[in-house]
Amino acid sequence: MSACQTQEVSTTTYSESRSSWQDQNRQRRFSAEMTLSDAEKALDKRLDDMRSKLLQSYRDNNFYPTARNFYHVKSEIEQTELFQTFQKMPKGGLLHAHDLALGSAWYIVDDAIAREHCYVYWAEEGEQYIKGQLHFFAENDVPEGFQSVREMAQNEPDFRQQLHDLLTFDAWTTPDSINIWKEFEPMFQRRLGYINYKAVFEDYYYAAFDSLLKDNIQHVELRSIISPSIYDLEHEGGYYPRDSMVNFFRKSLRRIQQKAPQFSLKLIYTGLRFLPRPIICADLVAAFRTKKANPDLVVGYDLVGEEDGGYPTLYHLDCWDNMDSLSREYGVDMPLFLHDGESNWHDNTNLYDALLLRTQRIGHGINLFRFPYLEEKVMENDICLEICPLSNQILKYTPDLRIHPGLAYLSKGIPISISSDDPSVFGYEGLSYDYWTVYMAWGLDLRDMKQISKNGILYGALSEAEKKKALASWEEAWGAFVQSF
Ligand SMILES: [Zn+2]
Repeated sequence: MSACQTQEVSTTTYSESRSSWQDQNRQRRFSAEMTLSDAEKALDKRLDDMRSKLLQSYRDNNFYPTARNFYHVKSEIEQTELFQTFQKMPKGGLLHAHDLALGSAWYIVDDAIAREHCYVYWAEEGEQYIKGQLHFFAENDVPEGFQSVREMAQNEPDFRQQLHDLLTFDAWTTPDSINIWKEFEPMFQRRLGYINYKAVFEDYYYAAFDSLLKDNIQHVELRSIISPSIYDLEHEGGYYPRDSMVNFFRKSLRRIQQKAPQFSLKLIYTGLRFLPRPIICADLVAAFRTKKANPDLVVGYDLVGEEDGGYPTLYHLDCWDNMDSLSREYGVDMPLFLHDGESNWHDNTNLYDALLLRTQRIGHGINLFRFPYLEEKVMENDICLEICPLSNQILKYTPDLRIHPGLAYLSKGIPISISSDDPSVFGYEGLSYDYWTVYMAWGLDLRDMKQISKNGILYGALSEAEKKKALASWEEAWGAFVQSF
C-alpha cells in the first residue's frame, strides 16, 4: 500500500467519524424526533439561504445584530425578508408574558389621549407618584401634579412621543452602567392605573390578544397579579373584587374568540417575590380560592420581580409547605410556574427550590447550566424552560445572544419554548423579533423552529381536550404556512 492510499483511507475514516459525531450531536437535540416534509425541507433551505446572505453582509460590515443592543438593530431586523417570514410563521403559544406588558404601548398612549377622565402625573417625582404615571380621576378629585392627558396632547406638540418614551425602553434607557431593574419596575407603575380602569381593561386585552393573533400566536399564558385593583369612578368604594379581574379577562377572551375561535388564554396567578412571607402565604390562599372559582382560566402560581433584589424562593418555604393542605381544603391543585434562575450570580440557587417544589415549567432558568444535577432533573421530568432571549439581553443578563445558554439547553434535549416576557415595555409586539434572534444567533433550522412553535402548545397548561384541539389548529396553520411558499 502506498503512502498516498494510506492517507486516502485515513481521510475517509476521519470524515466518517466526524459525520457520525455530528449525527450523535443531532440525536441529542430537543427537536431530534421532528421530521420535515419535502415542502418543509425546501422552506428550510430557503430560510437558510436568507440567513447566509444576511450573515455575509453582517460579517462584511462588522455588524452583528444579535450581539448588539436591540434598540440599535430593531429597524435592521424589521427590514429583512427573514423577519417578514417569521411574522407569518405560526408560533404556537406564548407561555411567558406579563399582563401589563403585553400589546402595544402606542395603543396605550392613543387610547389614554382619547379617554375622558384620564390623567398623567407630570411633575417632579414624589413619594407616591412618578412622571408618566397614568390614572383616571373624577374632575373634582384630581391629585396635585396630575394633568389631563387629552389637554397635554393638545398643548404639548411632543407629548405623545414623550409619554411613549416613559412607558417603554429604548437605547437611551438601556446603557450598560445602570441597574436596569430600577428603570424597569416604574414602567409597570405608570401603566397600572390606566390598564386596570374598568372601561379600559377589556378593550386593552382585546387589542393585545389581537396583536398576538396578527403575529400568528394562538395561545397565551399570562402572569397576572390577580387582585381587587380594577376600579371605576361610578360605584361606591371604587374597586371590584378579585374574581372580577378574571371575569373581565374572560370577556376579552370571548370577544377575541368571536374573531378567532382557536385563540386560547390561561392565567398564572402571580405574587411579588420581594413581599414579606406572611403576605405571600395569604396571597397563595387567595390564589387557591381564585383557581377554584375559575378552573377554566387560572392554572397555577408564580412569584415575579428581580430575583437577586427580592427574597429567594426558599425564603417563602412556609408558604409552599402549606400548599398540600390548601389543596385538600379547596379541592384544587396549584401547579407552580416559577420564575427562577433569572440571574448571573453564582450564589443564586433558586432553581433547587423550583425543582424540589415540582415546578411545571421554569421561567427563564438562565443559570441552570451551573447545576448539572438539576439539568438532569429537568430532563427526567420533561420540564420546559421558558426562554426569553430579548428580555435577557435588554435586562443585561446575556448581551451577546450567540452565547445564550438556551442554545446549550436545547442541544442537550431540554425542552424550551421562546417567549417575549414584557414586549410592550420593550417597545415591540408578538414573538417574531425573538424568533428571528434565536434563528440567527443559534444557527437553528426549521426542525428546531417547528419544535419551538409546537412546544408553546405541548407545554401549555391546557387540559388534554384543549391541547388536542389546539394542536389540531396549530397543525392546520403550520401546513398553510408551509404551503404559502
Ligand atoms: Zn417574566
